[in-house]
Parts: sequence; structure tokens; C-alpha cells
Amino acid sequence: MKCVACGGEELVEGVLFDKAYASEIGFKASGASILSQMFGTGVMPVGAFGCARCGHLQLGVELSERLLKEHQSFDKAPPSVTE
Ligand SMILES: [Zn+2]
Repeated sequence: MKCVACGGEELVEGVLFDKAYASEIGFKASGASILSQMFGTGVMPVGAFGCARCGHLQLGVELSERLLKEHQSFDKAPPSVTE
């Protein structure tokens, strides 16, 4: 995976962390959008990658195996996040 800001490859994997409450931060879909219907009503973990070269932070929702199977049916291979 490359940094989308500088193209560097020095990404450090981690999680978003709320220092005040000493807990991880998650993602919860809101409203009645298509996204909320896709993700359901639960809180999902957020994965984070910080660039050691420029400090840019990249985030992503960690999808469950069930969601991946239900919503990622591609006719061809999904696009790579590293390209
Ligand atoms: Zn960078």
C-alpha cells in the first residue's frame, strides 16, 4: 500500500484511538442511506495507516466476511488499493 498524498511506502498500521476514553473509535452508518443498509446498524472497526514520510493518515472500515461476501460480487477482480 502506498500513501495517497506523497506516494511513499512507509505506512504504519494502527487504529484510531480516543485518548480521553482510552478506547478505539469505530464507524457506524447513519440515516437510511444505501450505505447504512449495506453496513447494518453495528459499529465497525476502523483501520488506519499513518505515513512515516509525510504524516498523512488513511482510514478504512474493516469489513466483516459476511459483508464482503454479500456486497463485493464483482464481474472481475476488485481494484487493488496499492495501485
Ligand atoms: Zn505520505
